[in-house]
Amino acid sequence: MGGLAWRGYAAFGLMVVGAYWFVPGGIPEDVVYVALGLSGVLAIGVGIARNRPIRRLPWILMMLGQLSWVIGDGVDSWSSDVEHSDAFPAPADAFYLAAYPVLAVGLILLIRGRRPRRDVAGLLDSATLTAGLGVLSWVLLARPTLDTSEQSVAAAVVGIAYPVADILLVGLLIRLVTTSGGRTPAFRLLFAAVALLIAGDSTSAGLSLWSSSQTNAFDTIWLASYVAWGAAALHPTMRELSEPTPGDDLRFSRARLAALAAASLIAPGTLIVQDLIGARVDVWAVGAGSVVLFLLVVARMNVAITQISAANRERARLQDNLAYQAAHDSLTDLPNRSQALEVIQAALSRGQRTGRMVGLLFADLDGFKAVNDTFGHAAGDVVLCTVADRMKAEVRAGDIVARLGGDEFVVVLEQFDAETDAVQIATRLVDCAAEPIPLTAGRSARVGASIGLAISQDGSTDPERLLAEADTAVYRAKAAGRGRVEVFDSALRRELADRGELEAALVTAIENDELVLHYQPIVDLESGEVRGYEALVRWNRPGHGLVGPNEFIPTAEASSLICDIDAWVLNAATAQLAEWSAAGSTARTIAVNISGRHVSSPRVVEDVRAALEASGLPAGRLTLEITETVFIEDVLATHHLQLLRELGTRVSIDDFGTGYSSIARLQQLPVDVIKIDRSFLDTSQESSRALLELMIHAAHAFGLPVVVEGVEHAHQLDTLRTLNCEAVQGYYLSHPLPADEAGRCVVTP
Ligand code: C2E
Ligand code: MG
Ligand code: MG
Repeated sequence: MGGLAWRGYAAFGLMVVGAYWFVPGGIPEDVVYVALGLSGVLAIGVGIARNRPIRRLPWILMMLGQLSWVIGDGVDSWSSDVEHSDAFPAPADAFYLAAYPVLAVGLILLIRGRRPRRDVAGLLDSATLTAGLGVLSWVLLARPTLDTSEQSVAAAVVGIAYPVADILLVGLLIRLVTTSGGRTPAFRLLFAAVALLIAGDSTSAGLSLWSSSQTNAFDTIWLASYVAWGAAALHPTMRELSEPTPGDDLRFSRARLAALAAASLIAPGTLIVQDLIGARVDVWAVGAGSVVLFLLVVARMNVAITQISAANRERARLQDNLAYQAAHDSLTDLPNRSQALEVIQAALSRGQRTGRMVGLLFADLDGFKAVNDTFGHAAGDVVLCTVADRMKAEVRAGDIVARLGGDEFVVVLEQFDAETDAVQIATRLVDCAAEPIPLTAGRSARVGASIGLAISQDGSTDPERLLAEADTAVYRAKAAGRGRVEVFDSALRRELADRGELEAALVTAIENDELVLHYQPIVDLESGEVRGYEALVRWNRPGHGLVGPNEFIPTAEASSLICDIDAWVLNAATAQLAEWSAAGSTARTIAVNISGRHVSSPRVVEDVRAALEASGLPAGRLTLEITETVFIEDVLATHHLQLLRELGTRVSIDDFGTGYSSIARLQQLPVDVIKIDRSFLDTSQESSRALLELMIHAAHAFGLPVVVEGVEHAHQLDTLRTLNCEAVQGYYLSHPLPADEAGRCVVTP
């Protein structure tokens, strides 16, 4: 609809403009001219009514301006073709000249609508271009007009009013194109309309000055301007023409710079040209133009410098912000881990200079996970922030509290003389963390803190080491019953050293192939057949004999070393089952233990895929044993397990029943098998037996088969049979055996 109106009008208008050449001169020509002009005015009116722009005033003013022009046309035609007068100035000039300011105000309002923010730079740029063209216009049009109209002052004034008004329009046209915003069809049409108007004015003025021929050729340019203006108002996009558009102030493009340079060179350029061709040099006009241009350029420089320094200030502020964010924890606003290490380093350096002690308190909250589970993460955040605030309030000025991540905090202590001082502060922190923490809706949470203290006597320790010492002390505080302070002492130092040694030895163990796998059969309770094996790692440690996993797996789990061990086991175990199958074994599956840390790491999926690929074992024959706590603590782990199941491998919950997860959650976990911990086989206790029964029933209710591990006695087998347990594993059936023995193993339950 909207498209039809403006297209129709534009086509009609252009046709009339074309036909105008063939209309007989005099009154017929006048009639067509005035009629087309009026149609333009009418088109703007219709455009306003149909398109309903939010800002109507600019368009109404433009319509009135055009109307004034058309009236001028009518009056002019009357005087020239009816009264046959060619007086100058004529009454028509009053209407013509009145139109310019009205149109200009309309355009100004339109531009202001597009660019509501103050844009001094843009204004100055437009003013510079306009002033440059103004000098040109003065030299080429206004001055010669003045020179030729010696007869009357009125003729002179009206004569130069036209070029001056056109310069005003040129300025607005420049302003229109230099503001950002959509170059919609309405925009282009309006631009064309104003440009045609200026072109018509200037060429007709120029020609009447520089040649004696009387021609109406320029009428068509003005007519085209009427048509373009009307079509612009009819186009539906005129609605957005006066809407604000986003734009930046700092656009100082090459094109803009070139235009500004050219404009400011017009004045001196004119002087040179006038001098070269021997024309009269208009010193005053060109001089005044130069002064104006010069001042504008200086003002523009000033604006640019202000903008640049404002941008620099902003950048510096952003950099400060970024640096702060990089060094601080966003939740508690405390220094974060990396910043904490720097603070510790700085304190140690000072300690080294002054010979004073530096203390590091490592606080780990007790019961924080329970708060998160019970009250949700928002409450967990409140707890962390409250504890952080309390700790800050409790330490002395100069002592720095930082958050390492999760529920771990450190405090760096400097000004103290004896270990007991530091212990005292730590005890105060334990007490303040234990106070109830109010949550929303009248509820409150309770956590505690276990704190480890490590002291560097003379600042010679390195920060990572001090942190590791304090961490070791926390570990003991936790083990000794939580809510207490432990000091890193010589016994712990020995422990830490052992751990370091063990880690180093494990790295070489993997490289030197010192790990071995033992296999424990998993037996079908009904048929008594070996349905599969669990692979259990051992370490043939030189000088130590065969070392069990409990002695090195926990240490390996402190770093990514555990992932390397698991990957090694995956490869060896899948290859072993493939080998057994090739030799005719009926065992279907191999179960491999995967540590929580490995499951949380994205490499787990690739490690499993690589092992399956290398061994050629179908994915369905590999079972991954994951301990129950992993499912509760880690969303990432759960996601990886889903990917692994998509791969085809089966997932088993290991040591089920020891991880405190509710049985009801079983349904949502990405698992295929439940492996119940051996602690529930203690059938001497009635409660264990009841729990065992409950867990097996629950697993069956969710369609999951059950393996019970740690079967050591025949009567346990009987119990499990009555409970319809699917499979069993334990010393009663077979100990974990080296590969060659396990391959030959036949069990009789
Ligand atoms: P788990 O996965 O629960 O493995 C079962 C553990 O119970 C094994 O101990 C096994 O020897 C033992 N066991 C089997 N039947 C009986 C029984 O009738 N009575 C008793 N008292 N114990 C029995 P092991 O081999 O010392 O492994 C201990 C733990 O070390 C494993 O517990 C597992 O969590 C971890 N582990 C073993 N191998 C690996 C491994 O390759 N990767 C990882 N990440 N962890 C492993
Ligand atoms: Mg296991
Ligand atoms: Mg187990």
